[in-house]
Amino acid sequence: PIGRTATISFEGETPVAQDADFVQHEAKGEVHVLRLANPPVNTLRTEIRAGLMNGLNKAKAAGAKAVVLIGSGRMFSAGAEMTEFGKPRQPPSLTEVFDAIEGYPGIVVAAIHGSALGGGLELALACHARVAGAGAQVGLPEVKRGFVPGAGGTQRLPRMIGAEEAAKIIVSGDPVPAVKAQKLGIIDAVIDGDLEEGAVAWAKANLSKTFTLARNRTDKIEGQDPAAYDAVIAGLLRRTRGQESPKGCAEAVRAAFTMPFEEGLAKERELFQSLVSGEQSKALRHIFFGEREVLRIPGQPADAKSLPVERLVVIGGGTMGGGIAMSAANNGVPVTIVETSEEALKKGLARCHANWERTVSTGRLSQEEYEKRKALLTGSTDFEGTVAKADLVIEAVFENMDVKKEVFARLDKAARPGVPLASNTSTLSIDEIASATQRPELVVGMHFFSPANVMRLLENVRGAKSSWATIATATEFGKRIGKLPVLVGNCDGFVGNRMTGKRTPQVEKLLLEGCLPQDIDKVMEGYGMAMGPLATGDLAGLDIGAAVRKARGTVAPVADAIVAQGRFGQKTGKGWYMYDEKRTRLVDPEVEKIILDVAEKMQVRRRKISDEEILERLLLPMVNEGARILEEGVAYRPIDIDVIFINGFGWPAFRGGPMFWADSIGLKAVRDKLAHYAELTNDANLKPAALIEKLAAEGGSFAGMSAKANA
Ligand code: NAD
Repeated sequence: PIGRTATISFEGETPVAQDADFVQHEAKGEVHVLRLANPPVNTLRTEIRAGLMNGLNKAKAAGAKAVVLIGSGRMFSAGAEMTEFGKPRQPPSLTEVFDAIEGYPGIVVAAIHGSALGGGLELALACHARVAGAGAQVGLPEVKRGFVPGAGGTQRLPRMIGAEEAAKIIVSGDPVPAVKAQKLGIIDAVIDGDLEEGAVAWAKANLSKTFTLARNRTDKIEGQDPAAYDAVIAGLLRRTRGQESPKGCAEAVRAAFTMPFEEGLAKERELFQSLVSGEQSKALRHIFFGEREVLRIPGQPADAKSLPVERLVVIGGGTMGGGIAMSAANNGVPVTIVETSEEALKKGLARCHANWERTVSTGRLSQEEYEKRKALLTGSTDFEGTVAKADLVIEAVFENMDVKKEVFARLDKAARPGVPLASNTSTLSIDEIASATQRPELVVGMHFFSPANVMRLLENVRGAKSSWATIATATEFGKRIGKLPVLVGNCDGFVGNRMTGKRTPQVEKLLLEGCLPQDIDKVMEGYGMAMGPLATGDLAGLDIGAAVRKARGTVAPVADAIVAQGRFGQKTGKGWYMYDEKRTRLVDPEVEKIILDVAEKMQVRRRKISDEEILERLLLPMVNEGARILEEGVAYRPIDIDVIFINGFGWPAFRGGPMFWADSIGLKAVRDKLAHYAELTNDANLKPAALIEKLAAEGGSFAGMSAKANA
């Protein structure tokens, strides 16, 4: 999604300048050109709005018959300057600029290259016409930041392309490529070659044509059947459970065909105001900025440079190795999987091929692109010979320290000097793995999440001796293969798994004290999680947790009783639930019986547990462990933790992550609740962490801590 790749300029980073520096004005005969110049993405900050206003006035005074608006640099415009939100608004507003465009005695043409997003597209929609470069895209991603387009987008777009098509774009927030935008009627012409020259020529050729402004068009919305519209919306909203902004977008677009233009604008404004000041939008913007922040690693020297990677070698072609290799091939990187036998290799490669073929069959991948990816992915059983050609190695063999050390000792001998060696371990110490080599400074953790070709999160683990060049390589390579790398420290479970691990004992206790699996999953899914913890356990396999408990000598009476019945989860058709052939999750009365039996044997008096208590007992242990992780410096900032949960653990972005949640209820309340549940459930893990005690006493917050770490 485009909104995720756009960077945002922060107030204060750019030196104070005159609006003339932000909008360059050039006369080309009877056509004048206004160039937006607010790098990197031309957000519509105050100086840009003022510059547009002045430019239009000057063009008018000079008698220009047409004005072309164009972006300089990477794109037309990524939209509003979000850092100006919540501050006193400086004139002119976007609406005032649009009024000036619509009132211009001649034509104003937007020339779009790169992207026109949010306010950037709204600016273009207010123009008399729009032309675009072939690779351009347009979109209204506001919904993804938790609000609705606030400068007429929800009223002008439906008048141009119809309410149903407009709703698809506005409710999803997904960008539309120029060619499709032209078919829909958003773009008047796609121009090859130099866009500015082409746009000026196009404007000259169309000077005598009459253009009807979007606000005055009625043909596409006349006779819109409200029931048909509602049916389209119902389909769109199914995918955004629990989120408010998609509903707001649908309501705003509805106003376009049920109200006159000005009333629709007022409706849009009202929805914008109420959503933008709400908790969900705050959470979504927290994550939007956070995903940029995590890439700025505190203490990383400015000259830390990534090592060049042309060929990746992945050791192990199992579940994870295959997914990692696919991510590389999907992004144009040649990759070779090394396996122990021809048979294992064949199986591993076949799984990757089958996965791509499924994508081809759904039409989301072309046959040509599939062939390209297939050619980039090779396999070998010649460990030494293959590793010798690697620029980077990622190991994904069995999770066993002896095996890993043996593999790393061999890698160290086979890889060229200076080549970094990464491990995908989910629990083992990177330092101990590195100790098996003569190059510990080149060893790093690259912890992918399953399915590795899909999940965006990459927890890069910094060993005690990892060099900055090694870390920079893990970061840059991760980005190159489509991941969001977050650097964390070395500890058991790193950040994500270590935190969720602290939730598990409370799940067990809740089941014992009065809940059934569906009660717990219902609360977590109601909160917005992709899947509740018990359904997730069934998917991953309950035997894995049982094996870990056995190895660690711990017990979980309820979970152990479930596993003892051969209920390993989806793979055996039964776990915390039972599953039919279509893998539909069904409540199994047998499970209730097992749970009640265990509770009776342990003489636990079961009680009705409120949804609020369930939620708190599952989230608070994670927050507490997150605080310990911060105390230890395993995560740099609270925002790193939130970004990890949103991108790797199915946590809904509109909730902002566990640390954001803690801030939203206040750390004093968090401390008191932790102390309460520590006593109630006799769980020492819930004793408030020192950091929470400290912040609660100071009236501080996790957000304040992130800000300080970045200062
Ligand atoms: P897996 O059992 O599916 O795959 C491991 C593969 O490694 C097997 O195909 C095996 O033949 C191969 N292998 C073993 N020794 C080898 C050697 N010396 N040389 C080459 N190949 C060798 O396991 P997996 O689920 O892919 O896990 C791999 C690693 O990824 C583990 O460290 C695991 O903890 C980690 N991890 C797993 C997940 C997950 O959800 N499965 C998530 C994150 C990280």
